[in-house]
Amino acid sequence: MDQGLNELRRSLAGAALAPADPGYDAARRSFNALVDRRPAVIVRCLGADDIATAFDFARAQALEVAVRGGGHNPAGHCVCDGGLVIDLSLMRRVEVDGEARTARAGGGATWLDFDSATQAFGLVTPGGIVGSTGVAGLTFGGGIGHLTAQHGLTCDHLVGAEVVTPAGAVIHASADQDAELLWGLRGGGGNFGVATRLEFRLHPLERVVGGRLTYGGNGVAGALRRFRALVARGPRDLSCQAVLAVDESLAPTLVVAPCYTGAAGDPEELRELRSAAGLIDDSVRSHAFLGQQHVFNPPYGEDRNYWKGHFVRELPDEMIDELLRRIVALGRPPGQVLIESLHGAPADGDASSAAVGFRDAAFNVSAMASWRDAALDPRYIQWARETAAAIEPWSMSGGYVNYMQADEPIDRVRAAFGEQAFERLQALKRRHDPDNVLHRNQNIPPP
Ligand SMILES: Cc1cc2nc3c(=O)[nH]c(=O)nc-3n(C[C@H](O)[C@H](O)[C@H](O)COP(=O)(O)OP(=O)(O)OC[C@H]3O[C@@H](n4cnc5c(N)ncnc54)[C@H](O)[C@@H]3O)c2cc1C
Repeated sequence: MDQGLNELRRSLAGAALAPADPGYDAARRSFNALVDRRPAVIVRCLGADDIATAFDFARAQALEVAVRGGGHNPAGHCVCDGGLVIDLSLMRRVEVDGEARTARAGGGATWLDFDSATQAFGLVTPGGIVGSTGVAGLTFGGGIGHLTAQHGLTCDHLVGAEVVTPAGAVIHASADQDAELLWGLRGGGGNFGVATRLEFRLHPLERVVGGRLTYGGNGVAGALRRFRALVARGPRDLSCQAVLAVDESLAPTLVVAPCYTGAAGDPEELRELRSAAGLIDDSVRSHAFLGQQHVFNPPYGEDRNYWKGHFVRELPDEMIDELLRRIVALGRPPGQVLIESLHGAPADGDASSAAVGFRDAAFNVSAMASWRDAALDPRYIQWARETAAAIEPWSMSGGYVNYMQADEPIDRVRAAFGEQAFERLQALKRRHDPDNVLHRNQNIPPP
């Protein structure tokens, strides 16, 4: 292995980190502190050649492969014990064509990289809400964020990609070149190869009205119902997410995070939210889109996380009551139930253009346990599982692959796409990764 490592280093434009090397510990960290794995080697790639070299080395040394973009996947798919990590964190360049309204992002670019580059041209694509999340990882699982009602899912804006397969082939996916692979990348995850470059369509946008509205006391249930009524009307210029949590006194709180892009100075929808009883803090204001992208800034690699949830068609009173009981059962902060509204543009997307299977959902409801003390692992994992089980009666598919833990059964992954789409994804998998080298993901095994 040592001699092989020296040869690997000589053949890379990038770098290879072994456990004794400086920087190894930082490079193996993922967002989720619950994941603490020690790969044999981390290959910091600079391009397609390095990625192909890393695949060859892993095959020659019989090493398991993990792929790291932004390191945010809560399942910790970006790192494996004793294996090889294809680390894309040196490939973060984003190039923008302001006239064509397109952007090309490196395979390891984060949303902060992407938004900073596109906002310099007054342009956006609907992406994730936390800057350190990887563009590729999020896009390949769908992509829900602050502009979902206005522009739809992130993957609907992916128009092309360059991908290196485990066999070392460099292939291009676009509407003209390999439309089937483009379809699979729009939702099917990192199952088919490692993307060196992704190309997106952009829209003009500079300022939004957004921030947080925080409710407490007896107002929480009423404010959640008001959020529900508002998004049920399907406002196209207002994306909205809601977060249930508990405060230090263990009483439920609700944060509603709107993002309004319409023309009104004082939009009626926001007046409606602001006038709900129990409002204790209001930071909603007009600000630059980059400001909106900092409304949520969780620390990287500090909290232990375990998430589980369901897409649902409705948010009936019984479910609201159940969620309030479950958030009280959480017993201490942090941790939350995230309710993402999918009204508006997601349903416009041509269902046959992407592998995602949740366009008909009204909400994505996720129990997100988050804690620091390892001794509390069983308690919080159980809370997330029980909370997801409590909302299961309203569930309409297998759940959101971007938030799934590694212990989800294959049936949940299959249900996330639906039977037909899953079979189509399996055919793509057989074509591009017949040996399932890329299995550290929400896996679509070859048939
Ligand atoms: C704090 C936080 C906030 C989040 N916010 C959102 C959000 O607003 N909206 C949303 O929809 N999701 C969100 N997510 C979920 C996130 O989109 C997924 O977990 C996604 O997989 C993370 O991608 P990553 O590159 O950061 O993660 P990583 O753990 O590095 O990668 C996850 C997997 O993605 C694949 N992958 C990554 N890059 C490539 C590439 N270049 N080529 C091929 N495969 C690749 C690989 O299979 C890899 O194992 C969030 C997650 C966290 C922890």
